[in-house]
Amino acid sequence: MSDQRVYNFSAGPSMLPMSALERAASEITNYQGSGMSVMEMSHRSKVFLKIHEETQAKLRRIMNVPEGYKVLFLQTGATGQFSMIPLNLMGKTGKADYAITGNFSNLAAKEAAKYGKVNVVASSADKGHTYIPTQEELKLDPEASYFYYCGNNTIYGTEWQYIPETGDVPLVCDMSSNILSRPVDISKFGIIYAGAQKNMAPAGLTVVIIKEELAGKYLMPYAPIMMDYQLMIEKDSMYNTPPCWDIYMLGLNLDWVEEQGGVAGMEKLRNLRSGMLYDTLDNSRLFTCAAEKGSRSGMNVAFRTGNEELDAKFVAEATAAGFVNLKGHKVAGGMRASIYNAMPVEGVEKLCDFIKAFDKNNG
Ligand code: PMP
Repeated sequence: MSDQRVYNFSAGPSMLPMSALERAASEITNYQGSGMSVMEMSHRSKVFLKIHEETQAKLRRIMNVPEGYKVLFLQTGATGQFSMIPLNLMGKTGKADYAITGNFSNLAAKEAAKYGKVNVVASSADKGHTYIPTQEELKLDPEASYFYYCGNNTIYGTEWQYIPETGDVPLVCDMSSNILSRPVDISKFGIIYAGAQKNMAPAGLTVVIIKEELAGKYLMPYAPIMMDYQLMIEKDSMYNTPPCWDIYMLGLNLDWVEEQGGVAGMEKLRNLRSGMLYDTLDNSRLFTCAAEKGSRSGMNVAFRTGNEELDAKFVAEATAAGFVNLKGHKVAGGMRASIYNAMPVEGVEKLCDFIKAFDKNNG
């Protein structure tokens, strides 16, 4: 790692693999002899269409996307999907099931309530979103148009360790903060989506993987044109200008993922990083993790001392030592280490050493 680089534990936008950054740097003024940067080329040009096609193909290969599913490269962030999902799916029965396990599923449910009836099948708000409900706790409605949940709760540091069983009701999952971190059986889902700025690419791209038969059936007549899945499928995400640079960066990141052994390789690294960090915190005298053990996130590790001043001291000293962006989200407080795919294992090892030393000196 270059000398000036810090270990960036930001929740997103967050670290990208060095190889992707260096490749982008080397091609920034002249992409493969085209005489221009990817930032400067027409999205309809042959050279860009090849990037678009190859990036889609790489994602399909790495995530093992089955036939009958389409990969879309959209905009308006993950938040755009909070609207796009109900606008396209809610019309089936006029109601949908939502599991509320944190900030973003809560926002998604609020947005969906504009378009139909939201049935809250479970909520972890009773214990400050420190756990994931069990399958038995989900009060499912067999007539729901779809079932919505957020696979990893970026702020609270909890993660679903199982895929909910919902019978014939299509599963919709926000995977913004854990996509590509382990193998997923896509065939169980109706829609998977993720904002790119954590495990995939710079901000500005939203990846959607949709079962094609779900699109185009129940679109609300007033839905904005950019929120029509069917149209985006027909136009291969190119109804308008797509986020070209982002798509290119995603491709470079996916090359790195493949070199590391794909999603199985990512899972090994994820387990190594999170295992080390949780062990260190569990064995400390000062720190506790809010998330219940069976619900802990492999991507966002939320922890605290219980003393705000000491938390602030930890964050300040960590920053000075080159471990940045460890302050927790304002709604949760404490600290949070986001350890996405591109965080080197060595960064977590060093953070663990720092935590141990802080624990010794302040405990
Ligand atoms: N869902 C999750 C799980 C997130 O972590 C975030 C952002 N941190 C969002 C949705 C919202 O993403 P965006 O800013 O791309 O709209």
